[in-house]
Amino acid sequence: MSEQILYDFTKQDATGASCTSQAWAKVPEPLTPARRDELKARARRLLAERNAVLVAHYYVDGDLQDLALETGGCVSDSLEMARFGRDHAAQTLVVAGVRFMGESAKILSPEKTVLMPDLDATCSLDLGCPPEDFAAFCDAHPDRTVVVYANTSAAVKARADWMVTSSCAVAIVEHLHAQGQKVLWAPDRHLGRYIAEHTGADMLMWQGECIVHDEFKGLELELMKKEHPDALVLVHPESPKRVVELADVVGSTSQLLNAVTGSDRQTFIVATDNGILHRMRQLAPGKTLLEAPTAGNSATCKSCAHCPWMAMNALQGVVDCLEHGRGAITVPEPTRTQALGCIERMLDFVKANPGAISQPARGFVPNIGAA
Ligand code: SF4
Repeated sequence: MSEQILYDFTKQDATGASCTSQAWAKVPEPLTPARRDELKARARRLLAERNAVLVAHYYVDGDLQDLALETGGCVSDSLEMARFGRDHAAQTLVVAGVRFMGESAKILSPEKTVLMPDLDATCSLDLGCPPEDFAAFCDAHPDRTVVVYANTSAAVKARADWMVTSSCAVAIVEHLHAQGQKVLWAPDRHLGRYIAEHTGADMLMWQGECIVHDEFKGLELELMKKEHPDALVLVHPESPKRVVELADVVGSTSQLLNAVTGSDRQTFIVATDNGILHRMRQLAPGKTLLEAPTAGNSATCKSCAHCPWMAMNALQGVVDCLEHGRGAITVPEPTRTQALGCIERMLDFVKANPGAISQPARGFVPNIGAA
């Protein structure tokens, strides 16, 4: 059983080129403890029987995160999810996250079966960057190197020169800028602005946004900081400029998690999807984690700091996809091969430049960097 909820968050730039039209998400009903235990036991058995491994994102339900770790899978950000799935011996990958993550897994592991608990779990950044419109945007600017965020469809990646994640975006654009290249960036405008500010690169931006991170509010965060002067403020760079300016640490989900576990501070204000608090609590028990303020809970839950599409991942979906082979991801050729090129370019860069990627300065605002 689930409830279908509509989201209407159309936003367009001056040319109308970038918009996220109406979308919807199905929110699973809460489970009783007995039902949860039963489904977890079935999922465990099916994962073993089907030679499958569960690869989960930090933002999905805590039960799925626990199941992934208890059964030899992983809980991580989108980059590590794709790498883990590619390198794991299992022939079936169950990807608990949103659709572009399943597609990335399939692009990197075409010989494996990639299943998702719910194929309708998507992302406002992906929805807001339709491949045809994006191709026209690229065609209009042939002098620019096309760099796209991981949160895009396989078809958009197929048109790109580079894919980046939030953990390596600054280092890669800095590298391109040093070579004198001008960048066409898509789709997240806030992350694009953050990268441009930190690299000085000439970046032409697609105007997409994440409906979760875009809702964090600078004024309210300022008030919260005053109430908790000892708290370290952790912000994902998909957030608006004013929110990023108030941060002590800016970084990817993994970098924010590392900031909590590696800091002596006791209290943290966290401005990213609240699904990550589950793993933060497990890895840093005893620390106080406060959710950064959003516009407030609305009727559509648009402002509740939790991605409605990540929330579609449920234990029942894991059982169903394994039991019935539902939710299989396919990426047709030549799209897969074309998209593989930009992902491999990033993975090769990260492998060749591990120091550049992992330096705290890449993920930390320069005036703090202490966490
Ligand atoms: S949290 Fe935002 S960026 Fe992540 S999947 Fe949801 S809509 Fe997309």
